Amino acid sequence: MPKASNLGYPRIGANRELKKATEAYWRKIISASELEREAKELRHKHWKLQLDAGIDIIPSNDFSFYDQVLDMICMLGCVPKRYEWSGGDVNLDTYFAMARGSDEVVAMEMTKWFDTNYHYIVPEFEKDMNFAFSSTKIVDEYLEAKNHGIETRPVLIGPVTFMQLGKIKDEGLERQDIMEAMLPVYVNILKDLRNAGAKSIQIDEPALVLDLCDGAKDAFIKSYKYISNEISDIDIMIATYFDGLRDNTELALSLPVDTIHIDLVRARGQFEEILEKIPDSMSLSLGVVDGRNIWANDISDSLSLIEKAKEKLGGERVIVAPSCSLLHCPADLNIEDELDKEIKSWMAFAKQKLDEIFVIAKGARAGRESIEQEIIISNKIVDSRKTSILIHNKGVRNRISSLTKEMFNRKSDFSGRQAIQHEILNLPLYPTTSIGSFPQTKEIRETRSSYKKKNISYKEYEMKMKKEIEKVVRFQEDIGMDVLVHGEPERNDMVEYFGEQLSGFTFTKNGWVQSYGSRCVKPPIIYGDVERPKAMTVKWAEYAQSLTNKVMKGMLTGPITILQWSFVRNDQPRADTAAQIALAIRDEVSDLEKAGIKIIQIDEAAIREGLPIRKDDWGEYLKWAVDCFKLASCVVEDKTQIHTHMCYSEFNDIIDSIAAMDADVISIETSRSQMELLDAFVEFKYPNEIGPGVYDIHSPRVPTVEEIENLLQKATKVLNVQQIWVNPDCGLKTRSWEEVEPALRNMIEAAKNMRKKI
Ligand code: GLN
Ligand code: ZN
Repeated sequence: MPKASNLGYPRIGANRELKKATEAYWRKIISASELEREAKELRHKHWKLQLDAGIDIIPSNDFSFYDQVLDMICMLGCVPKRYEWSGGDVNLDTYFAMARGSDEVVAMEMTKWFDTNYHYIVPEFEKDMNFAFSSTKIVDEYLEAKNHGIETRPVLIGPVTFMQLGKIKDEGLERQDIMEAMLPVYVNILKDLRNAGAKSIQIDEPALVLDLCDGAKDAFIKSYKYISNEISDIDIMIATYFDGLRDNTELALSLPVDTIHIDLVRARGQFEEILEKIPDSMSLSLGVVDGRNIWANDISDSLSLIEKAKEKLGGERVIVAPSCSLLHCPADLNIEDELDKEIKSWMAFAKQKLDEIFVIAKGARAGRESIEQEIIISNKIVDSRKTSILIHNKGVRNRISSLTKEMFNRKSDFSGRQAIQHEILNLPLYPTTSIGSFPQTKEIRETRSSYKKKNISYKEYEMKMKKEIEKVVRFQEDIGMDVLVHGEPERNDMVEYFGEQLSGFTFTKNGWVQSYGSRCVKPPIIYGDVERPKAMTVKWAEYAQSLTNKVMKGMLTGPITILQWSFVRNDQPRADTAAQIALAIRDEVSDLEKAGIKIIQIDEAAIREGLPIRKDDWGEYLKWAVDCFKLASCVVEDKTQIHTHMCYSEFNDIIDSIAAMDADVISIETSRSQMELLDAFVEFKYPNEIGPGVYDIHSPRVPTVEEIENLLQKATKVLNVQQIWVNPDCGLKTRSWEEVEPALRNMIEAAKNMRKKI
């Protein structure tokens, strides 16, 4: 004692085997049984890998064909009526129809899992749902591991978290009733697991780190009391992660369960208090290895926490664990053969994290001497990151320490700038523009990848890109767009494109992390001080502007979005990293202005999703996020118009911060909600200009002139005409030209009609 444990392993496979197999199944290239076989192999491989690493407590049912919340929906028989499911096991096709829709039926909604970039399927609660233990996957997989001789701890999502994440679809349905209907099913599941031989179970209740209403707190007390009354001969661990328990500490520690898991990476501050308050009957699982990031563990530091806990509680009651499931980490660092050696030595992916967990547990069991070598290596890594010239850049540090107040503000306030800009830009009312990207055709992607693989020269690549830019410019001129864009053909991804040109970033070949279903992303890794060695977009913008007399908009990604969609440093606060990125973007903004670009858009698609889990922390985050945007943008003269774009538009609770960013124009996503999402801006009397999206780019449908006019009418009713821009909801890169051309033509015609009416 203490034991080494894991809470979940990446299911997709180091080479994305599951993604490939699943997509092959969807395309009817392989059969259901072939898909099942691949899944079985992966599960076995992952269990074996954990066993070999010396993990004592290995999870099962952390595997999923799409999403663990969807699995839970199927386990509880919470399948919405429209899928015409008739009880029992939910077959693969119904399962995938729920996830992705089918020809006959629409998919369930999907949203982000807490503050991660993982998306889960949102449970729907309908009247007359017959909750029952339906899909037996959790028992099957437990037995499957057992057949391989591997004892596991099955994982499921707890009743309160499941209920909190779900949406009530029918009026009159109360969360409490749903809870009451679900609890007996949970008990049945636990009983079946126990009968199959399971000794313990991991119940994920990350809802315990949220701001909870009284109803939810009550639900925790009632449900665990119920469960513990109904079944006692299986050990229950409640897993909390992504933040601390804070004001839910007493509640969590009062639950009649055997073990509680806490996240000490995100919320180290809770350690002492919980150690103090944990009841004698409870064991403590300590999440000391970061499940959300790719850095090697500081073994000595982690061990000191475990030692302290062991001293207070005794080794029997202490478990070493990752902070959360390793699902959010790439699988295996060993297969990365192109990373800089020194940088690579600082990292650990899921497989390496298992070794870290084992080493820490071993150190706690057999003393520090038993892991002397590992501690020496780990200390070396910690020291090398403190001093490495790869990380520390004096120039960047100096700039950051000499920031002045003026650098965060435009010269004049908005109304002053607006007058100047309107005179210079001379745009009509309802000016039309787009969000930046145009369809990324097969040829564009091929050109980019041939260049990356060095199959074509830079000259050839540049020529082809220029041709594409010219095509897009001529098209926009032809349809009568007012503010043009170059179309972003040179960018495969709005963050990667910038990361590749900034110092302090590195990239993996296979560092895939599941985003949703079979979709994986490969986030850039920010390891050091960020600096912009040279201009990143100016050449393309300049070229595009040279083709036309109309105004060309320069396109950049904002500091918060770059931060949010990367693996970030853990050796300095996020805010500091964001400020460095902001300075780099500021340099680019300044160079674009010097090159004669009159409008510059800085996309902050991810600003809302960066919000901390607890409301108490929002203020601090929003303060530095807004400051970073202003640092990036406020370098320009009054005459230069700054745009920003945000994808989600539920801004009610942060609208004052959005306004504080002081962009001259903001474009948002609103078409699907029929402009309802504009309400926040209206109520707040948002002072600057706004482009509420009028074309839903997530759908292949081409909106008619009339529809767009209707949306613009609605906007005109609530906003000042001078404020309104006309644009699609988001970039057009995923759409085809066949849709984009008529849609944009209609958009422009609608704008023209609106002008006539004024
Ligand atoms: N400029 C980007 C584009 O048009 C913005 C995309 C986004 O916000 N997600 O693709
Ligand atoms: Zn967008």
